[in-house]
Amino acid sequence: MQDEDPFATIGSHEQFLARAARGVEVVEGEGARRGHDELYMRLALDQAHNAWALGEVPVGAVIVKDGQVIATGFNQPIGHADPTAHAEIQAIRAAAERLGNYRLNDCTLYVTLEPCAMCAGAILHARITRVVFGATDPKTGACGSVVDLFAVPRLNHHARVVGGVLAGECAAVLSRFFAERRRTKPRHTEHPARSDGAA
Ligand SMILES: [Zn+2]
Repeated sequence: MQDEDPFATIGSHEQFLARAARGVEVVEGEGARRGHDELYMRLALDQAHNAWALGEVPVGAVIVKDGQVIATGFNQPIGHADPTAHAEIQAIRAAAERLGNYRLNDCTLYVTLEPCAMCAGAILHARITRVVFGATDPKTGACGSVVDLFAVPRLNHHARVVGGVLAGECAAVLSRFFAERRRTKPRHTEHPARSDGAA
């Protein structure tokens, strides 16, 4: 298995996940990693659609460890009456519960929108190894857009951060959501958007 092109035989998203679930080793070249990142980002996009279905700003996240999705989350601050219920926090809580560990070492978090300062803080506390996000958030993004909390040397943990994976698709979901909401809801009855929802 070591020498083959992992994407030559994967064929489909489902086959990839089944293969990953079996723990089959794959070759980790740059191209392979980008392909994996896009596949997991598509799962995060599925989560964003779950948020949309509930009238929440569509942001989704998944957490992956050893090639397996161990947790998912989507933005739910309105439904939960909880300003901290961002997709990343939901996924981090689920992953920690599943692992029975407050540290999420060797985990990668995929999220469709650049994390805010709150979520970046949670990512640092959880010791998440790698963060992959889709669209940038010029209003509250804390991975370089407004601030870059992952580049502050005095913070003692530094996740590797990759941005812009399926950025167009991730941003388009948000744009369509807000366009639809403007069409269907008079302004004075709008739900408050999440602060980092690129409203
Ligand atoms: Zn956040």
